[in-house]
Amino acid sequence: MSLLQNLRRRLITGPVMQDWPGLIEAYRGWLPVSDATPVVTLHEGATPLIPVPSVAERIGRGVKVYVKYDGLNPTGSFKDRGMTMAISKAKEVGCEAVICASTGNTSAAAAAYARRAGMRAFVLIPDGYVAQGKLAQALVYGAEVLAIRGNFDRALDIVREAAESYPVTLVNSVNPYRLQGQKTAAFEVIDALGNAPDWLCIPMGNAGNITAYWMGFQEYYQAGHSRTLPRMMGFQASGSAPLVHNTTVEDPNTIATAIRIGNPVNRDKALAAREGSNGAFLDVTDAEIIEAYKLLGGQEGIFCEPASAASVAGLLKRSAEVPEGATVVCVLTGNGLKDPDCAINNNDAAFHTDLDPNLETVAKVMGF
Ligand SMILES: *Cc1c(COP(=O)(O)O)cnc(C)c1O
Repeated sequence: MSLLQNLRRRLITGPVMQDWPGLIEAYRGWLPVSDATPVVTLHEGATPLIPVPSVAERIGRGVKVYVKYDGLNPTGSFKDRGMTMAISKAKEVGCEAVICASTGNTSAAAAAYARRAGMRAFVLIPDGYVAQGKLAQALVYGAEVLAIRGNFDRALDIVREAAESYPVTLVNSVNPYRLQGQKTAAFEVIDALGNAPDWLCIPMGNAGNITAYWMGFQEYYQAGHSRTLPRMMGFQASGSAPLVHNTTVEDPNTIATAIRIGNPVNRDKALAAREGSNGAFLDVTDAEIIEAYKLLGGQEGIFCEPASAASVAGLLKRSAEVPEGATVVCVLTGNGLKDPDCAINNNDAAFHTDLDPNLETVAKVMGF
């Protein structure tokens, strides 16, 4: 189905978009697929771009801020965009097993799509540093989960070697099809706004996503679908900021486990995106991440993971530099439900426990 046909079908079916076919069909002409590619999809993509006025108000000067809520993908993170491509292409060449290292979301997505394709999925995770929701997903989707005593970077070294020695396909973001799928998020942003935003704020771990967005923005720009290109603003956690400080971090540490990565695979491509877009990288502390996380949840009703909140934390930290009247998009990479421990330990909610079970007590607590 062409994009035009697809848009037409959307018009006919109305705003509910029951017919969204997944991003490979929606953007087929922009992706390295052919009739020989068996499309493995959970109808990922088409995530909403949501205005966040409470963030915009903090910046003022007529700035418009949106979040691209990619936590609404089928497994709850943007990793689905890359995985539909990586698994479809792996199936096309007859692969029967995939492997990845993961801080959690890649393993959830790899597990789901691999099982849908009838493949085995092996996932290596840093023992004790994967959020509960993500681990639960990998287990339920039937992955073979290997928790190692070591961090993500070590796990990635191992799976890279494994993919060279054994009949398993690597589906980390070194796999070029991952980035191809992920670039569709930039297409969706432009399709929604009619143009690229002035700033694109995004958290960086392995820096595949910032690379993919930049690729997508450039492709649409070159094809005349956007008049401008955004500045790519990449954010890392202070305890895990190898790209900000142009170094590697031996022992990365942050509450935002999805970006707890000390030696990003896509370092050079991320630097090129920064340079080509006149962008900037900055680090944000865990406290700043949690403040943004609470602001999104408490003021906007948007529950994202701590890693995702780094994009909004970074925007707020650099807010003095946002041009008057600018349009800013912050990428919310993952769903808040992924990390319930973080939520329960970091909120300002009124949570009254151990109450007597009668109306009088309840009314009193309510202040009536
Ligand atoms: C994977 C991930 C990131 C980091 O993306 P990279 O492509 O590795 O830079 C950020 N947030 C969440 C929720 C993720 O799952």
